[in-house]
Amino acid sequence: MDDYISISTLNDFIFCPYSIYLHNVYMGGDEELVHATPQTRGKAAHTTIDEQKYSTRKDELTALSVYSNELGIIGKIDLYVGREKKLIERKYQLNNIYQGQIYQLWAQYFCMTEMGYEVESLAFYAISVNKTIPIDLPTEKDKQELQNFIFRFKHYDPTKDLNPNINKCSHCIYCSLCDKIDTENVYT
Ligand code: SF4
Repeated sequence: MDDYISISTLNDFIFCPYSIYLHNVYMGGDEELVHATPQTRGKAAHTTIDEQKYSTRKDELTALSVYSNELGIIGKIDLYVGREKKLIERKYQLNNIYQGQIYQLWAQYFCMTEMGYEVESLAFYAISVNKTIPIDLPTEKDKQELQNFIFRFKHYDPTKDLNPNINKCSHCIYCSLCDKIDTENVYT
């Protein structure tokens, strides 16, 4: 599954494709040196789930590894509630829901259904305000949109020119490592 795309990088690719290149260059190093404050908090929010501490209920699956051969993607879900056939993605804060986050949830959904799980509803859960936000199940058109996006991801060329968006760059966790810009991020 070497050429499978990690579901967790879909949102990063929308934010800036070059960040995926930087992630691959630096992911072998000390992640704590790379991650800025919001990302660290987001990762902490996921820690209990990644360590399978969030729920001991037998009808709830956490941190399940999932994959789709059809889409060429691999990743982990946050929480699947069996009695409700509901797939949930936790985020520490959710002031806005970005398309990349929806792609991640769709991707998890397609993985689970391909693996034989029944999923009848999707939702985000905002930890900071204890709020559940339902998301529609993806349609066939949505699936095609996701497939097109994955195709673009797989064929991205990091040597091509990029027009950095300075507002994005100043909030990018790779800002201090990026050779495309000459600025600091807002977290330093
Ligand atoms: S600093 Fe800017 S150009 Fe560099 S990876 Fe981040 S968003 Fe992209």
